[in-house]
Amino acid sequence: MSRMEPPQQTSLAHETELMERRMLEEIKRRRDAGQDSWALEDFEIGCPLGRGKFGRVYLAREKITKYPVALKLLVKNELVKHEMEEQLTREIEIQSHLKHENILQLLTYFVDEKRVFLVLEYASKGELFRELNAQKHRRFEEPKCAKYIYQVASALQACHDCQVIHRDIKPENILISARGDIKIADFGWSVHNSSQTKRRKTICGTEHYLAPEMVKNMEHTHLVDNWCVGILCYELLVGRTPFESKSSPEAFRRICKAHIDFPPYIGTLARDLITKLLQVKPEDRLCLKEVMMHPFIVKHWPLKSVDDAPKPAK
Ligand code: ATP
Ligand code: MG
Repeated sequence: MSRMEPPQQTSLAHETELMERRMLEEIKRRRDAGQDSWALEDFEIGCPLGRGKFGRVYLAREKITKYPVALKLLVKNELVKHEMEEQLTREIEIQSHLKHENILQLLTYFVDEKRVFLVLEYASKGELFRELNAQKHRRFEEPKCAKYIYQVASALQACHDCQVIHRDIKPENILISARGDIKIADFGWSVHNSSQTKRRKTICGTEHYLAPEMVKNMEHTHLVDNWCVGILCYELLVGRTPFESKSSPEAFRRICKAHIDFPPYIGTLARDLITKLLQVKPEDRLCLKEVMMHPFIVKHWPLKSVDDAPKPAK
């Protein structure tokens, strides 16, 4: 290989893996030493990656390990003003405990006098929403959709196994890693489905992704996420969500009937998967393991070996 050639993918991946291991060791070391106190000085700050409702996100690099991260900066005053402290605490608590290769990892967090900093795994390909918008006719080919739906289902299964409901699955809240894999982010609406609060009533999420039980303000369970997987699958293949209407009441009526119109180019297997997820009665919806084994997924995203199966993050 000539010196001018870019490094091979494998050595790049290897280097990133090494850096990641060092970063995780550094986090552990600080925690064990009782100095879990990270500070802004521990990072070199790079370009802005985006802006959320309550803060900004920057690309940053931890100084010792050189590991790239996304640093999300939230202003305490703003959080207090909007009564978001409890939601943020819950988001931190939930996201730092979920470890799965398709869930964006919250590596650590720290605070200073005025701000809260979340140190997040960096997803260099950005939002799924942006990738979808960049497609011709705003839709993916079936194989790409099948891969993404498999990974979203796998990540949500890991959430549900830990009694966590995400409640806000949509392309804006899904990021893509350098390797092109799904990273579910934004656990701001997620909730711990603990035994005392088995059924929840808060309306949350985004209008087009609301499940019928939420529209009707009925109790809901983890099965609202399965509904969202159905809406997501439709949106990735069609370029819009299935119940979009001129007004919210009209959209809500359509959601509660769950009558789906498919454009002619949507194949039988995809229709079958979407229809089995978009069931009005939550208990009739396909479970996530069935989604991962559905013929539409298996046809386009066959797991080549056991090694390809999702692994828990280190
Ligand atoms: P909110 O969470 O307040 O509803 P949001 O989800 O749009 O809003 P953030 O999570 O603060 O906002 O992120 C803002 C933008 O920064 C995102 O839209 C995304 O483009 C980018 N971003 C956030 N986290 C990462 C990350 N880990 N890796 C790469 N880009 C990121
Ligand atoms: Mg978001």
